[in-house]
Amino acid sequence: MISPHSHPNQKISTPESISQNLEIYIKRLDLIHPLISGNKFFKLKYNLKEAINAGHDTILTFGGAYSNHIQASAAAAKAANLKAIGIIRGEEQTSLNPTLLTAKNNGMRLFYMDRETYRNKHKEQVIRSLHEKFGKFYLIPEGGTNRLAIKGCEEILDKEDQQMDFICSSIGTGGTISGLLGSAMKEQKILGFSSLKGNFIIKEINELLGKHQIHPQCSWEIFTNYHFGGYAKHKPELIEFIKNFKHQYQVPLDPIYTGKLFYGVFDLINKGHFPSGSKIMIIHSGGLQGIEGFNQRFMESL
Ligand SMILES: *Cc1c(COP(=O)(O)O)cnc(C)c1O
Repeated sequence: MISPHSHPNQKISTPESISQNLEIYIKRLDLIHPLISGNKFFKLKYNLKEAINAGHDTILTFGGAYSNHIQASAAAAKAANLKAIGIIRGEEQTSLNPTLLTAKNNGMRLFYMDRETYRNKHKEQVIRSLHEKFGKFYLIPEGGTNRLAIKGCEEILDKEDQQMDFICSSIGTGGTISGLLGSAMKEQKILGFSSLKGNFIIKEINELLGKHQIHPQCSWEIFTNYHFGGYAKHKPELIEFIKNFKHQYQVPLDPIYTGKLFYGVFDLINKGHFPSGSKIMIIHSGGLQGIEGFNQRFMESL
């Protein structure tokens, strides 16, 4: 589908990196594909392979109306010659937002599920009714996190990244960071920044590691204080930060994941968290497709 070697690390020089003698790199996964956004490419890769190997011609997955995963799944399925069904949380809107429109234009069939049923979407009864309606399909969970997704995310770090001391990643379901934890080296430290409110995510990551028998060699730390009110919530200082960052470094950030991640990393830098001489890599996991819908909803101009 796309070359896995095409995600260069971009070094940026900031007033803080100079004064504190830090090297800051951005791993531009947002550049690897316009529609199969960043980490979602890695999460989908082995799932689509498995779907094809198991003889499926259709994938079915779930997501919110602005979901990066939905748009990425639609594009990836198209590239793999698979049909795609997207089950969208909530009521159908009178007009499709940019995320759903792009998914639809890539051939995904969209269906809506009321919020209560959606909460129970992984229960056998709901899945059975989906099979009654749509026949045979390969199911990819919401957010795309499963064993094969984590396996794919173990390939995010490459040889060049072995020189990094700190690797910083945003967290949604925890699938991406689980892959990073599975592949980072002993001397490295992974810092995770949750976009969701609450400490529950630490337990969930530990459960993912246990369930998929990942035994991190590296050290790691999860920060749960950069959620800006919770998932898909934001505050003026986050918006300001994203605008300034784009202006200064020509790197666009999304308000759901990467904006919170970069804000958190630079807050830690400002607080003197990193020893002099550290090489810090921030993984830009993509998500830029969501900006257009965000701007429309909130009359913003990110
Ligand atoms: C989905 C997504 C994440 C979160 O990935 P998880 O594996 O669910 O933790 C982070 N960043 C972006 C841009 C995403 O689209």
